[in-house]
Amino acid sequence: MSIAQVITRLHNELPPAVKLVAVSKYKSAEAIMEAYGAGQRVFGENRPQELAAKAIALPKDIEWHFIGHLQTNKVKMVLPYIALLHSLDSVHLIEEVNKEAGKLGRRIECLIEVHIAQEESKQGFTPQEAISLSERFSEWPDIRFRGVMGMASFVEDRDRIREEFRRLKQVAAQIAGKVPDFDQISMGMSSDYPIAIEEGSTIVRIGTEIFGSRG
Ligand SMILES: *Cc1c(COP(=O)(O)O)cnc(C)c1O
Repeated sequence: MSIAQVITRLHNELPPAVKLVAVSKYKSAEAIMEAYGAGQRVFGENRPQELAAKAIALPKDIEWHFIGHLQTNKVKMVLPYIALLHSLDSVHLIEEVNKEAGKLGRRIECLIEVHIAQEESKQGFTPQEAISLSERFSEWPDIRFRGVMGMASFVEDRDRIREEFRRLKQVAAQIAGKVPDFDQISMGMSSDYPIAIEEGSTIVRIGTEIFGSRG
């Protein structure tokens, strides 16, 4: 299937309330424009320089999301271009995003990244840390905390993946009672998005399934 065909299929298949982020990292402007031509407007990137260059070169009605680990010294480079930052993974980064958002005069929409996988390498706050952190959101008035993001373990065991997504949803629900508009759950990638949707995802981040492997 072509890029455009996969986009059309996903637009038909995903529940209307679930937002599709087409993860275009490492992919060319031509590939992005093929998805755009099929009606896709939301794209995700994980390298600051690449995101800024694409945002400048490509149509202005594209909504860019930053989905990877963001170094504090790169915050300035990406904030002007993004509609949503999925990956707040430290207080240090939160402080920096809040500061730069203030300078831009714009509240930035962000998600708290929660570590739900058992694998060591995954970034993010533990569920308990995320819940505690939510007590402090008012310290950062230039961030609009909209929800959580998480990645399940890369395993075959679908029950385990489901458990991890369920855990993320529980964390979101615990915070949502206390924080206005905290209603987004970014979970689900090419290999596991159907499970994520069953477990309450509101945003899926799909790359390989749309654009092919990143080699
Ligand atoms: C690359 C990436 C994705 C997309 O993964 P695929 O398996 O290619 O769909 C989703 N989320 C994050 C955080 C990523 O870095």
